[in-house]
Amino acid sequence: MAHDDVFSNAMRQLEGAYKFVKVNEDTKRILGQPKEILEASIPVRMDDGSLRLFTGYRVHYNDARGPTKGGIRYHPGVTLSEMKALAFWMTIKNAVANLPYGGAKGGVIVDPKQLSTAELERLSRGYIRAFADFVGPDRDIPAPDVYTNAQVMAWMSDEYDTIVRSHQPAMITGKPVAMGGSLGRDTATAKGAFFVLQEAAKAKGLDPKRATVAVQGFGNAGGYLALFCHEAGLKVVAVSDSKGGIYDEKGLDIPKVFKTKSATGKLPETGKRVTNEKLLELPVDILVPAALENQLTAENAAKVKAKLIVEVANGPTTPEADELFKQKGILVVPDVLANSGGVTVSYFEWVQNREGYYWSEEEVFDRLKRIIVPEFHAIYGLMGKQRSTMREAAFVHALTRIVAAIEAKGTEEQHRKR
Ligand code: NAD
Repeated sequence: MAHDDVFSNAMRQLEGAYKFVKVNEDTKRILGQPKEILEASIPVRMDDGSLRLFTGYRVHYNDARGPTKGGIRYHPGVTLSEMKALAFWMTIKNAVANLPYGGAKGGVIVDPKQLSTAELERLSRGYIRAFADFVGPDRDIPAPDVYTNAQVMAWMSDEYDTIVRSHQPAMITGKPVAMGGSLGRDTATAKGAFFVLQEAAKAKGLDPKRATVAVQGFGNAGGYLALFCHEAGLKVVAVSDSKGGIYDEKGLDIPKVFKTKSATGKLPETGKRVTNEKLLELPVDILVPAALENQLTAENAAKVKAKLIVEVANGPTTPEADELFKQKGILVVPDVLANSGGVTVSYFEWVQNREGYYWSEEEVFDRLKRIIVPEFHAIYGLMGKQRSTMREAAFVHALTRIVAAIEAKGTEEQHRKR
């Protein structure tokens, strides 16, 4: 899909959801476009003394439910259309988890691999200088995304504090723990996905202690999820990384796999080799795509044998595959719910920063569970009621909350009716 199509695609999804939820015309107009967009040229002095200008964006999509929140992406393929779509999806994701936030997204057109660390620092500080009036703890709270990390957040947080001449850690999340980051942020996405996987397995009548699992993508999210599944007694039979996967129907020794992957960057030579394509078609109960988008498509969906798919990656299932899974009775727990543990713990970071009181890791995960499990059941119940996919139900669930906030503030249509 061309990047310029991304936003119109997101809007088609929104139109689709309107058949399940009553929304007045004013609200539809508000939701049909971002609230505000800032584009800036960011000057960066390069190591060789030359000056380069990088284009940066920040989109606030909708702030009816609270200050906007969403990541900052560094990528050569960043476009405004993509930023708008991602900001819209963040509005939905934050509402799925019932966080008191609207949605935003930012980005810079840059290939960060071509920059030295010092250049990257100057770019990150430059981004905040350009967008300082557009972000803030009560306005818009950025976080890491593709090719940005805790180090980038640390530079940005420090620059913001310098500009506003006060300590404002709640301006940005995903910071290192030493600078006010939350305990548990590293494993939050996997923890949240694991809680959801357990509930979904029970709902599908699978034995949550004995079911078999295949995980595509053994990175931050997929690796920890495999570990949590193994620790809970589930049988993880296959995992993979970009080089391919390993498969053992008797179950892999996941702590050993984890150790080898962390130490060498490679999966160990154990069990049988399996390609990333074949991994998706293995005879398992639960399939977890945790790598890239568009992995489950019209071409391979019919060959999937799992009864449950938990989308840890963003957008791993195409609409055609979704339709086929619905017909086959395969439950797909959508990304906006399954990977919302990450943004939920980002919210906890913001809360802790504002309180100046920090929680234990146990408390972080306990609170995460108390948010994500009820949201799973609310969406699962809605799916049955409206006879839709779980993805459509999650969208409607979120939209209902967003619309309620917009309409509580009063729309013209309501005024005309008075
Ligand atoms: P990561 O970079 O840590 O790991 C990605 C993994 O996927 C690596 O093991 C890599 O080898 C593997 N991979 C790459 N190409 C592959 C391919 N063609 N086939 C199979 N595996 C391949 O990334 P991550 O943070 O674990 O994110 C994974 C997915 O989860 C992404 O879609 C991301 O958007 C989503 N996600 C992550 C978080 C988070 O907090 N980490 C939050 C929300 C969503």
